[in-house]
Amino acid sequence: MTLAPIAIVSAMHEELRALLPALGPARVARLGGREFHCGSVHGQAVVLVLSGIGKVAAATTAALLIHEFKARALVFTGVAGGLRRGVKVGDVVVAQQLLQHDMDASPLFPRFEVPLSGRSHFEADARLVDALAGAAQRCLDRADAIIGSDRRLAFGIDSAQLHQGLIVSGDQFVSSAAQSTALRTLLPDALAVEMEGAAVAQVCADFGARFAVIRTISDRADDSAHVDFKRFIEDVASAYTHAIIEDWLLHTPSF
Ligand code: SAH
Repeated sequence: MTLAPIAIVSAMHEELRALLPALGPARVARLGGREFHCGSVHGQAVVLVLSGIGKVAAATTAALLIHEFKARALVFTGVAGGLRRGVKVGDVVVAQQLLQHDMDASPLFPRFEVPLSGRSHFEADARLVDALAGAAQRCLDRADAIIGSDRRLAFGIDSAQLHQGLIVSGDQFVSSAAQSTALRTLLPDALAVEMEGAAVAQVCADFGARFAVIRTISDRADDSAHVDFKRFIEDVASAYTHAIIEDWLLHTPSF
């Protein structure tokens, strides 16, 4: 019997493109306007898919992966804006919890709480988090081999660090100092902000599915957040994601 696949989900084309060659010969299934690439990486069944950007796109993708593809775990990869001090461009963040920063049904429910769920924070799978954090650290330790020292210096990346903790998500590209300051004030524990992770977390909680979210910091969610965004994803984040996912699948044969 073929084991249920591990799903690797990317928000953007550049990231998926970097991962596809690792998959080998793949079967493509089309569903819900998405292409699901089914194959294997280092002997493990894997399905790769582009979710699209934002919470709804991510939620649709997660539900399809769990229900139609019987994914036994979901890993959402991509980039994010650094929020907390010390979370710099080129760092990697693995989420331990996720929260929707744009969820606000107050005064009916406390701010950030998903109505009728009784919770605002959704936990990622601890074993997956540990394994991905291990893979990310090994990759950061050989950053020059993965992205090249020229690129590392061009993006001002120096001693990139791994962080673990809270990632917040919302349907908003946070690209002004005013917006990021407001988020930091409201959610001082938040390490980074992106647009999909907490939606995947909520869907996975509904289905009891294991998941993790891993992000390379592409910007500081401030007035220069858009600068070189595309180039960063192509030159740095996609290379990291590819290296981290391969390393993780190679080092966790029993997963
Ligand atoms: N389509 C545009 C922007 C992509 S939206 C482009 O290609 O230029 C940003 C994507 O990166 C989302 O998938 C989101 O999860 C993540 N992201 C990176 N920095 C972010 C920030 N500062 N605020 C919100 N999301 C961010």
